Amino acid sequence: MQKTDVIIIGSGPAGCTAAIYAARNNYNVIMFTGEIKKGGQLINTEIVENYLGYKSIGGYELVQKFFEHINEYPNIKLIDETVIKVNFNTLPYNVKTVNTEVEAHSIIIATGARARLPTFYNFDKFWNKGISTCATCDGPLYKNKIVCVIGGGDHAFESSLLLSRYCPKVYVIIRNQRVRAQKLFQSKVAKKSNITIIKDAKVVEVFGKTYLENIKVQFKNKEKQILPCQGIFVAIGHIPETEIFKSHLELDKEGYIITKGTTNTSKEGIFAAGDVSDKRYRQAITAAGMGCQAAMNANNFLNGIQPKENKEGIFKLKFNLLGKIIEFSVHNGNEGEINLS
Ligand SMILES: Cc1cc2nc3c(=O)[nH]c(=O)nc-3n(C[C@H](O)[C@H](O)[C@H](O)COP(=O)(O)OP(=O)(O)OC[C@H]3O[C@@H](n4cnc5c(N)ncnc54)[C@H](O)[C@@H]3O)c2cc1C
Repeated sequence: MQKTDVIIIGSGPAGCTAAIYAARNNYNVIMFTGEIKKGGQLINTEIVENYLGYKSIGGYELVQKFFEHINEYPNIKLIDETVIKVNFNTLPYNVKTVNTEVEAHSIIIATGARARLPTFYNFDKFWNKGISTCATCDGPLYKNKIVCVIGGGDHAFESSLLLSRYCPKVYVIIRNQRVRAQKLFQSKVAKKSNITIIKDAKVVEVFGKTYLENIKVQFKNKEKQILPCQGIFVAIGHIPETEIFKSHLELDKEGYIITKGTTNTSKEGIFAAGDVSDKRYRQAITAAGMGCQAAMNANNFLNGIQPKENKEGIFKLKFNLLGKIIEFSVHNGNEGEINLS
């Protein structure tokens, strides 16, 4: 079993930023990167044009820059494994992969989320070549093009409003009659002459040479129609990567980690950052900002229970008083006071 000061689960912008902040505060950090998605969602992103400092950069290239930065710190240890089990019942907390077990007093969870995806013919062929899950991220790349949004909720309607600012035509394709978006979004969409809502329909096939050119839509009555369309924005929800935490932390009904204040979870010393707890903004830069907050919160927490300057100064006293076991923890606090608990 290994021991460290801070465990970070996840290696997207939230996890990487948290690692750098914690390492600069002189903590030993172990980061589980995940076996499959080391670097997070950005590794599959063709172009990023909204990360501060980079006018335009490939997602994979941006992630390489994150890791170059991380590799500057010898006190960050990367483990390219997926966490499969956690025990957050008592301090120190315990995290396990198939091969590794680590203990720490503070944990930062940055496991992200994945978009729910529809199934239709040629989906894989045009992924990132006309199909996206993020209008805020990729929308401006489709300026002056005809696009569609799949979905009938807030995210879909918000995306269509955004796209309507620079696309001549935006279709919103909803598989049934039910529009789940809030009334405010619905009334704003209704006022846009370049947004058309198509109900009771689903995309069944997409076409193009290298990039997407047309989509085939099938209606409930089985009729089919081909529409010119160079961009599809999927907005049918996200799935946060929180399965392993559900019996340990408070999650909302969609499975996102509930945070109080900034990044505090329902357990002391455990913090959540990025898309795993943020279903509103879902951007690399907001995830990075939350990673910074989580590491600063972890620092405060560790200073409270485990003063960095004098780890050796923690004494545990245990004695038997008339048959009862009494346990005292005595340690030097930040300002030299003695705490009894
Ligand atoms: C197609 C696409 C394009 C995008 N374009 C942009 C853009 O242009 N600009 C922008 O700002 N944002 C963009 N985004 C959004 C951005 O990528 C995310 O908001 C951001 O990556 C979230 O960061 P995160 O660190 O919270 O999580 P993620 O990036 O999702 O990273 C999660 C990490 O957790 C790891 N993990 C998960 N489970 C485990 C486990 N059990 N054990 C160990 N590790 C685990 C994964 O391996 C991964 O490393 C885009 C997203 C997509 C999908």
